[in-house]
Amino acid sequence: MKAGADMKLVCLGGFGEQGRSSLYVEGRSRFLVDYGIKKVEHEGTLGELPLNHSIEPEFVLLTHAHQDHSAMLPLLVEKGFRVPVYCTLPTKELTIQLCRNWYETYRSKNLEPPYKLESVEELEKLLIPVPYNETFQPSSGTRVTFYPSGHLVGSAIVYIEDELTIAHFGDTNFGDRFNPDPFLDLEAEVGIINGSYGGAVMNSQQLRKNFLATVQSSQRTVLIPCASIGRGQEICAVLIEQETLNKPIYVAKSVLENTKKLLDFKEFLRFGAVDTLNRLLKSPRIKVIEEAHLHDLIAQGSILIGPDAMLSSQIALKIFDVIKNCAQDLVILNGYQAPGTLGRRLLDGELKGIKVRVVYSELKIHTDLEDNERIIERCLSKARLILIHHGEEPKATNLAKALKRKFPNLDIRAPHTGDEIHI
Ligand SMILES: [Zn+2]
Ligand SMILES: [Zn+2]
Repeated sequence: MKAGADMKLVCLGGFGEQGRSSLYVEGRSRFLVDYGIKKVEHEGTLGELPLNHSIEPEFVLLTHAHQDHSAMLPLLVEKGFRVPVYCTLPTKELTIQLCRNWYETYRSKNLEPPYKLESVEELEKLLIPVPYNETFQPSSGTRVTFYPSGHLVGSAIVYIEDELTIAHFGDTNFGDRFNPDPFLDLEAEVGIINGSYGGAVMNSQQLRKNFLATVQSSQRTVLIPCASIGRGQEICAVLIEQETLNKPIYVAKSVLENTKKLLDFKEFLRFGAVDTLNRLLKSPRIKVIEEAHLHDLIAQGSILIGPDAMLSSQIALKIFDVIKNCAQDLVILNGYQAPGTLGRRLLDGELKGIKVRVVYSELKIHTDLEDNERIIERCLSKARLILIHHGEEPKATNLAKALKRKFPNLDIRAPHTGDEIHI
């Protein structure tokens, strides 16, 4: 470590980009926060790893289960780092499920997976569930507390007390339908906040209305690619609120299974979420997609919801292949679309000869500019350093600039993957 510095932060992934979130920290202890994948579609690979840097983590802190934060952990195990991975209970269960999915995605495309299936089982033994709001000591010099972050069931803000106090906000959201709002009664010297939406303000009510209007504008079938947990349920909830929607709703089996799975974690959900989930499960308007009847469902005009979100694989890609030349059908992309994926290439107009209409319509699942301002006012007003992560450029830099205008006395930066920061 540099003389005079208290701590070193190495941006292994997810800085100036979205995906492969990973931060390596050296202070009194050495540890990682997250170790995810970045979706790409190159020859023979579907995801990029966090940077290869000489690391010696004593433990890992995992903010939540999404693959961009968790899915390379089995590789870490394979590299010989058999260290405890602390996370909440839902994160533990979902991480194992999503790492297996990642492995299967490679298999389904006849590609060599980046790790062995046994490494996922090894990882399972290393995942240690910790409750929200209870401080624990992963090593003698460091205390850690997980707090709700409002983004996905079990998602956490990781609060670290080492040489300095660090609040890593991971993926955070306010006003989520299923998850309690982030915990903000904390103060940190270093803050890592989410730059997914750059300097934009996202009004979730308005976004839901726009989303519905887009669905209603379709002439025949609507395909909505999405993650099967989190967004899958949010989209169903938005749609069944609209009584006048005159098309049947079909979801991938995994969306239905994960709706049930969320009910296993009732104590992690926000007030009212259990009722909403039960309503989804009981609604006669929501049925499961039977692949054998896919062509009939498309011909009759249906709303089809399922993974994956970027049209890389699974049921969404199958449906896309059927409707891609049908001008009366509609694909509604939402969420982040990584460069190189089919979803992104459609949005960028790179694919010629496709007749299906493609529209991007976002539903809010991350903090926007106003949320980040609120986080800074409440938790980081005296911070020595604030870093933006989880934002593709120029969004990360735009957010840093917008926040600097509001908080000119704070050191707010948008570093890039590969940067090393001494504090
Ligand atoms: Zn996430
Ligand atoms: Zn993420």
